[in-house]
Formats: sequence, structure tokens, C-alpha cells
Amino acid sequence: MAENESLLSKRRTFIKQTLAASLGSVFLTLPSHARSKVLANGLTIYFPESVDYELLNTPFNSDLSFAPVAIAACKNEADVIAAVLYAREKQLKPSIKSGGHSFIGASFSGGLIIDVSQMKQKIYRAKADTFYAGPGLKLAEVYDYLLPNGRLLPSGSCGGVGLSGLTLGGGYGFFARQHGLTCDHLKSVRMVTAEGKVITSEESPELLWACKGGGNGHFGVITAMKFSTIKAPPIFTTQKFRMYNLTAKRAAKLMKVWFKVASQLPNTMFSAFILNGKTLTMLISSTYSSKGSAFQKAATALLKAGTKTRGVYSKPTVRAVKTYSGRPNPLPFRNMCAGFYNGFSDVKKIAEKICAVTIQNPGILFQINTLGGAISTIDDNSSAYAHRKYGYLGELQAYWQSDRQKRRLMSSVDEIRKLLKDVPDHYANYPDPDLKEPAKAYYGDSLERLKELKTKLDPDDFFEQMQGLT
Ligand SMILES: Cc1cc2nc3c(=O)[nH]c(=O)nc-3n(C[C@H](O)[C@H](O)[C@H](O)COP(=O)(O)OP(=O)(O)OC[C@H]3O[C@@H](n4cnc5c(N)ncnc54)[C@H](O)[C@@H]3O)c2cc1C
Repeated sequence: MAENESLLSKRRTFIKQTLAASLGSVFLTLPSHARSKVLANGLTIYFPESVDYELLNTPFNSDLSFAPVAIAACKNEADVIAAVLYAREKQLKPSIKSGGHSFIGASFSGGLIIDVSQMKQKIYRAKADTFYAGPGLKLAEVYDYLLPNGRLLPSGSCGGVGLSGLTLGGGYGFFARQHGLTCDHLKSVRMVTAEGKVITSEESPELLWACKGGGNGHFGVITAMKFSTIKAPPIFTTQKFRMYNLTAKRAAKLMKVWFKVASQLPNTMFSAFILNGKTLTMLISSTYSSKGSAFQKAATALLKAGTKTRGVYSKPTVRAVKTYSGRPNPLPFRNMCAGFYNGFSDVKKIAEKICAVTIQNPGILFQINTLGGAISTIDDNSSAYAHRKYGYLGELQAYWQSDRQKRRLMSSVDEIRKLLKDVPDHYANYPDPDLKEPAKAYYGDSLERLKELKTKLDPDDFFEQMQGLT
């Protein structure tokens, strides 16, 4: 820690000196030993071996590593324009990075990473109920800012996830069944194009449509977003129901029970089925207290199935969201979408086999979350998000402690993926590197329209996105 601090302070002095020296020059070219370059407008570009390059070249999934030629640490829109022009001049393909949480590292590349993670502007205007957000904000920062104002932007639970990456792919969480996806609250965007020009969604309504679920890294760099918010519920209630030492048969039976319970929940409630090795956790949550009849009915059904609970947790929402904020630091994992489902019938034939592989391989988690509710009632044409009809979303996760365990888990992941081969639709924000036609699976009926916009805004495919619109 002490060593890190001294490196950072050296870095600060170094940058101050180079900034001072840059006055009057268009591009400051540093001596060959230098590891950063300050452009005329003040944008710093970092190169390998500089402290900032290493700090910024850190995917949340630490199993991944990338070696970009350079990283542009943007602090404002002018920096983003300068970064795009720099990439053009140096013939580097740029990728766009915010929170760095993409499962597959889609925001990283071998060329220039345009990093917007420091663009954390935030203003809430109560009169117009408008939240202006910079693209570098993380979910925890959004909750921390809005909740004390009594407002909420429905989004995901993990605090470190970037707001722009989440919104551009959809964005769901505890509040989505009641209020829709994060992207459903997006009202306008500003974007720097492949030509280094700024366009707004007021000029191009098609851009706003695309940024609601189909905009991750494809069209240009989103530099500002405007959202509407909702009145925050004063309390948030959760209860977990657990069962241990499960067999595959029992786990599959409980999955069927869970689907039934979940299908009867009101929109104010969310639920998740999480099989982690031999342990099953079923979570229910509500934006009201546990006293309501729907909460009681769900709890009774899950207890009747033989689960155990430690009780109900009802907390002020501002505190409750922190409980589910997740870990802040990178870790190695292999997560991917396990597909959208209409109900148990979509997984009935493979449920027991999926549970068997999960149970036999500690480190594998098979999770299903509720969607539906308000997500399904919002007009299909309002956004590029193509999977509103589905009530459930599956997620496959693998976490390991050693290379040996990783190898074993990877073959189990492949086994489960084979079982899921007929599941057609997947979530863009849970990318899977091995999908045969990822763009079709993520964007469904919106794909052709997204491709048309791509041709219009980025005809030369300047921006690098590992799972582009091809
Ligand atoms: C621990 C964890 C928890 C998660 N929880 C949830 C959840 O509860 N709900 C949910 O819906 N999803 C969840 N996700 C998935 C998450 O929504 C995606 O990983 C999301 O894309 C991450 O955004 P980011 O900005 O952090 O990532 P990044 O890796 O920085 O970006 C992801 C993608 O968005 C693009 N992008 C980012 N910013 C911009 C921009 N300003 N302009 C243009 N393109 C941009 C990138 O190019 C890349 O393609 C979770 C992921 C993790 C790892």
C-alpha cells in the first residue's frame, strides 16, 4: 500500500511537470522513457508500464488480460473527442470502457481503450425529475446520490457495475418488475462518433432507441445520459430460504416449486433461485413490508417445500441496497447468460441434468432471476431491448481458487452450455464468448435495425467490440 502511494505521488508530480511543459505545443511528445503523453487539450494517454495504465487496464474479471497499445483517461467530452481523433491519427482501433465489468472484457482491446470511468458528473433536478449522469458513474454512486433525495433509478444490485455499460445493454434488478429496466428510464444521450463529432439523441431519436438495450460499444462513446427516476420505496424487504445437501432430483423439484411461486408474485416483488453446489438459496424481495399477503403466500410456499429461513430483513432502502452491493475488487470467474425462459416448461427436460452438474462441481452456480412485470408491459418498439416477453433470466457462474479447479469447472460449464443449446435468446449484458450467433441471440428482432444504424454512424467499423453487430 505504501509503495503504491509513493508511485501515485511520483506519477502526480510527473504529470504536473509534463502538463507545464506542454503549453504551446499541439502534441507533447515525451522522452522515449516516458510512459504517458498529454495532448493539447489536457487529455492524458497512458502507455504500458505506467502506473495509470496498469490501474486502468484491469477488467473486473481478473481471469482476462489485455495489452492495449494505450489508454486514454478521459475526464470530459472534449477528452473523448481528442481520444477518438488520436486513435484515428495513430490508426488504433478503440474500445470503450466504463465500469470494466463486462464478463468477457468487451470494453478492452489491443488498440486504444477510451476510458470514461472518471466522467462522474451527476445532477438531479427535482422540478423536472431529471437525473443527468456522466458515463463513468458506478451503480453504488448512483444509489448513494439519489436515495438521500428520495429518488431511485431502477438498476442492478452490484455497486461496482458501470451505469453506462448496464444501461446500454438493458439493466435489470430488484426494482425492474415494478418500474422497468434501467434503459426504460433513459431519456436522452450525447455521443461522440467515429468522426469525433458530438451527436445527441434529440437530433437522432434512433440513437436513443438503440441505446436502450443495444448500444454497448457499437456506435460511439456515450458521454452523457439523462434519466427520469422513480420515488424510492422507504423500505426494502428480503427473505432467504435455504436447503442444504441437495440431490439433483430434489433440486430440480424445488426449481419447479420456485417457478410456480415466482409466477404468482406481484410486480412489487422479485425472486431468485440460486443453486450453489449442493446448497440452494431462494430469495424473495419486496418494496413493501413482509406483512403483505403476497409476501406471506410466497414465504409459506417455500417453507412448505422444506426450506429453512433465518427470517425477514426489512431495512430503509438506502441501507438495504448496500447489503447486495457485492465485492468491489476484481476476481477470476466465468459468468455467462443461461438464456431467457418463459417458465419451468422451457427447462423441464434439462433441469435435473443442470442441477446434477452444478451439485457435483463446487464453484458452479446456476441462477434464475425473475423478470416480467413492468418490463413486459412496456412498448416493444420503444427500445432495442428485444426480450421483453420473457419472465425469467438464467445465469451460469463459475468461481475457482486454483488452475486445477478452473480446468474442471470449465468442462462443467461446457457441459451445462451443451444442455442449454436450444435456448435461443440471451442477455447482451451477460455475454458468452462461445455463442455461435451472439448478435442474433442478444438483439433478436432489433438486430437489423441496429445494423442499419451501425452502418450510418460507424460505417468503417472503427470501434472495437468483441461481439459486434455482424
Ligand atoms: C458482479 C457483476 C454484477 C452484475 N449485476 C448485474 C445486474 O444486477 N443487472 C444487470 O442488468 N447486469 C448486471 N451485470 C452485468 C452488467 O450489466 C454488464 O457487465 C455491463 O455491461 C457492465 O457495464 P460496465 O460499464 O461496468 O462494463 P464495461 O466493461 O466498461 O462495458 C461493458 C460494455 O459496454 C460498453 N460501454 C460502456 N460504457 C460505454 C459508453 N460510455 N459508451 C459506449 N459504450 C460503452 C463497453 O464498450 C462494453 O461493450 C453484472 C456484472 C457483474 C460483473
